[in-house]
Amino acid sequence: MDIRHNILYKNKNWAIILVVQFLLFYVLSKINWTILLFEKFYEWKKNIHVRFFSGLEFSFGDVFYLLIIVSGLFFFYRLIFLKKSRTLKAILVFLNISYFVYQSFWRMLYFQSPIIKTLEKKKITDNDIQNLAIIYLKLCKEIREKTPENKSGVFIINNIDQIKLEIISQQKNLPQEVCNKKPTTTLSIKPSLFASFMSKTGILGYYNPFTAEGQYNPNVPATQLPFTLAHEMSHQLGYAREQEASFIAYLAARNSDNIALQYSSRLYVLKSLLRAVSKTDPEFTKKILNQYSNKMKRDRENELKFIQKNDGFISELFGVSNDLFLKSNQQDGSISYSYFVNLLVIYELK
Ligand SMILES: [Zn+2]
Repeated sequence: MDIRHNILYKNKNWAIILVVQFLLFYVLSKINWTILLFEKFYEWKKNIHVRFFSGLEFSFGDVFYLLIIVSGLFFFYRLIFLKKSRTLKAILVFLNISYFVYQSFWRMLYFQSPIIKTLEKKKITDNDIQNLAIIYLKLCKEIREKTPENKSGVFIINNIDQIKLEIISQQKNLPQEVCNKKPTTTLSIKPSLFASFMSKTGILGYYNPFTAEGQYNPNVPATQLPFTLAHEMSHQLGYAREQEASFIAYLAARNSDNIALQYSSRLYVLKSLLRAVSKTDPEFTKKILNQYSNKMKRDRENELKFIQKNDGFISELFGVSNDLFLKSNQQDGSISYSYFVNLLVIYELK
């Protein structure tokens, strides 16, 4: 067979460009000033990009991903069974464009200088964590007294739109020494169309770098919802790393008067602290859980019920892969606290 009739040979240029892109972005991620350039680019395009899809009530990003999955199946069918050269070209061009957009709109932000560098260098201990957990237990109990609840005595949210507005306005007041990013000016945080899939996989929300929309699962327990919104909106602000997005979310909630946001954030902090010491001091965790107020205990019960209800094949599938991921990331057997807990405790200690 003549090699020129081979569909791979015909499309070799697009394949080469893709490989060059892999190498190029790999090299760019190792150079400080190019990362700074991508950071500046994100700052510049941030508000324009957010505004682009903010007007739509539904998540355009969800529809976009759905279309990609459906047309992807169609194109692969044509490629494998019909061996169409034009199909391969279309796939390669699409991969090239989306890879380029993903890298320059988002992926490069993972290499930004980490927030921990703006904080004091300090080694935290179990003791620091436990002291802070005791403080946060008290803060949670206090604020929970003021929150509304449903007939079963479980915390509910009365006005989710108000929480979104509060987060965007609190993002303007983040401490300058930690966050020097321009605030976002437009809300674009939407309930996901894939809510039930998200419930089953335990995904609370996600940020779409192509449409700059934040998506959240509207069905998660009310205790987790406001913090999830703040977390996704921190991604929008330009924080790619998961734990840094949570830290920025905590900072945004810290000075807020919105009771629901406060409660959700304080509870997230408390749970993170308890998790951090649960292996070395399980008795302490148990003691604190017992000291939850009755209202907080009902909320916790509600969270556990939600997990049980969605427990099944998919969650198992995701649970296993998650576990593998965690294991492969742990270099040695040493116990280290999560990056979020480090940021939080060092910040609170000062
Ligand atoms: Zn996230």
